[in-house]
Amino acid sequence: MSAALPRFALYDPFARMQFGAPNCFLCGTELDLAIDTIPVFADWLMDRYGLHEHPIHLLDQSSSTLGEMRIPCCPTCRTQHVGPLEARVEAATATSPEGLRELDAQTQFLWLGKMFYGIFVNELEREKAPLIKPRYPLSENRALFTRFRSFFQVLQALRVPMRYDDFTPGSVFVLNVATGPDDPAFAYDDDLATMVFSIRLGNVALISCLLDNAILLDVMRRVYDDARPRPLHPVQLAEFKARVYYGAYLLSAVPEYFPRPLKPGDEELVMDTFLDDITGVVFNPWSNMAYGQALEDLWRPWNIGLADIMRNPAQPLSYLYDAEGEPLVVENFPGV
Ligand SMILES: [Zn+2]
Repeated sequence: MSAALPRFALYDPFARMQFGAPNCFLCGTELDLAIDTIPVFADWLMDRYGLHEHPIHLLDQSSSTLGEMRIPCCPTCRTQHVGPLEARVEAATATSPEGLRELDAQTQFLWLGKMFYGIFVNELEREKAPLIKPRYPLSENRALFTRFRSFFQVLQALRVPMRYDDFTPGSVFVLNVATGPDDPAFAYDDDLATMVFSIRLGNVALISCLLDNAILLDVMRRVYDDARPRPLHPVQLAEFKARVYYGAYLLSAVPEYFPRPLKPGDEELVMDTFLDDITGVVFNPWSNMAYGQALEDLWRPWNIGLADIMRNPAQPLSYLYDAEGEPLVVENFPGV
């Protein structure tokens, strides 16, 4: 068993591309037992929402369950770092998912980030013995690894006392949704390529882009402010998500992070950031047609096809706004 990392030292699993057992995902400590693992979706979450058998479809076309999604974690990280974070979220949401709003931005980021990173690690592990050899293996996707390497630097605030100096690494949107009686109490979706992850507990949805230095939060400020005060119809939530997914897809600048050198007596590691936008563009150009396709994908449950979405090519169909750009209230779909 290797020595534990010093308190402020960052761990870089990308240097040796060592993500799974026998190393702790968070500090790299070699584990004594291959059974030192934690669930990607915390036990309290799976117990509360009955998720142990919840199916998950992986990129190698195999299926698994949320209960089977685990990552190696040493006892120290489990009991001193991940456990307390999960306990905070569990306590905040014990009476209502509304408690998600009361969590500070870093807690929201770390909680979502831990699950998202856990999915990434599980996908990589599956790729070692894929059911179907993927055409574009994750492990050969350099752009993806560059993003995850940056993301993992700031995710280590899970373990290392860390302050982000004057930036927030991701955008987290918190929205209310008017779920119907047939909607499950829990839902999530993710996209590794764009670093987008969303999770819904009851009627509260967290939608995040976990590596954008809150740029999407900034450019979507008006849409967010209009959506925030009211419960959204699920068709509206899906539209909001389409904007986040497509916005994240267009984001061409990848944030990089640098720890400031420590001075004697420092109690936290201060992280600085740099947005790599050497081409001078933060976003690639918007295309209504490509956005319409993202919408079509997320509106599949309502059977809204691309032809309907693109009836006016200059203004794709919206349930968040009317033709004059005023926020819409959707009571019963499609009765708008
Ligand atoms: Zn550890």
